[in-house]
Amino acid sequence: MNQTKLEKLPSPCWLLEESLVKKNLELIYDIKVRSGAKVLLALKGYALWKSFPLLKPYLDGCCASGLHEAKLAHETFGKEVHTYSPAFKGEEIEEIARISHHLVFNSPAQFHRFSTLAKKINPKLSLGLRVNPEYSESPKEIYNPCGLYSRLGTTLANLDESVLTECEGLHFHALCEQDSTALENVLQNFEEKFGKYIPNMKWINFGGGHHITRKGYDTEKLVRLIKNFKEKYDVEVYLEPGEAIGWETGSLITTVLDIVDNGLEIAILDSSAEAHMPDTIIMPYRAEVRGAGKTGEKAYTYRLAGNTCLAGDIMGDYSFDAPLKIGDKIIFEDQMHYTMVKATTFNGVKLPDIAIQKLNGEIKIIREFGYEDFRERLS
Ligand SMILES: *Cc1c(COP(=O)(O)O)cnc(C)c1O
Repeated sequence: MNQTKLEKLPSPCWLLEESLVKKNLELIYDIKVRSGAKVLLALKGYALWKSFPLLKPYLDGCCASGLHEAKLAHETFGKEVHTYSPAFKGEEIEEIARISHHLVFNSPAQFHRFSTLAKKINPKLSLGLRVNPEYSESPKEIYNPCGLYSRLGTTLANLDESVLTECEGLHFHALCEQDSTALENVLQNFEEKFGKYIPNMKWINFGGGHHITRKGYDTEKLVRLIKNFKEKYDVEVYLEPGEAIGWETGSLITTVLDIVDNGLEIAILDSSAEAHMPDTIIMPYRAEVRGAGKTGEKAYTYRLAGNTCLAGDIMGDYSFDAPLKIGDKIIFEDQMHYTMVKATTFNGVKLPDIAIQKLNGEIKIIREFGYEDFRERLS
């Protein structure tokens, strides 16, 4: 993007580039066609719904984690709505059942509690159970659904077989930003534990965490695994990636407000790691900054930090070819997944506006946030 276009954008601002999403979608569509799998968008990771008209032709629907995401899927995406929640609430289950195609329970107790009512509301609903294959190669414990004492999914020991008469599918989710080799290993464990039930199922959902659109991901192996599985068991296979769809499709544009020096030069930005890019602190990870290198790699090193009163509101240390000045734009790359879905107005910091660069290059600002968005959430 040229400097004039950049200067015209509000700050802070998320900028989605449709051409980059389209590239991801074309790759995923190709996998769908070659493997026969169905692919859903996981709204947990990416829910910029004004971009859904672009996504819709390539995907089979959305997976939702409860009432709000199910409603969003139903209203803004259409197609299939698959809803799973660690625990459904009695007062929400009827509305969820009405708009969902698949309803996946986390435990046999929840299955027994809600299955009859859900089927009465929507006889076409396909019921499933999330199982815990008790195997994951997740690099971080916070993202490991198969870790010690995990509440996510039913272990084989806890599987009450009386749910199986009504159960049409099994769901597992055990990956996090991983390659198809990790899936192969999870599948092996899943089959060892739950294999005897699979022939009676209509579908198996392989969850999310497939890092399909990352450079170097072994797509051939993914296609092979799905095809073999489908042939072996004659079931429908679903994938529900979130991150892989929003992967490297846009940036967070911020502005330097001040530069202070306390043994290290620190650039304070009009954004916040805590409020706008929380995974940089939680995971943690270091976002790439356009034109910048690691500490000392280029001539001028700065710590980039947020405009809140949290001491640890720090994006990281970066070096630049030229000294930073007040008003300079700092562009964080790959900020479309697990950012706006998690953003808060902590400390009264303004939410970044949202812009989309259309396929024809035109940039549209589709959402601006202000004081009201802060006030209205608080009482
Ligand atoms: C988080 C999650 C996903 C999406 O995971 P990604 O890492 O974004 O692909 C899919 N299914 C379930 C059940 C999840 O919890």
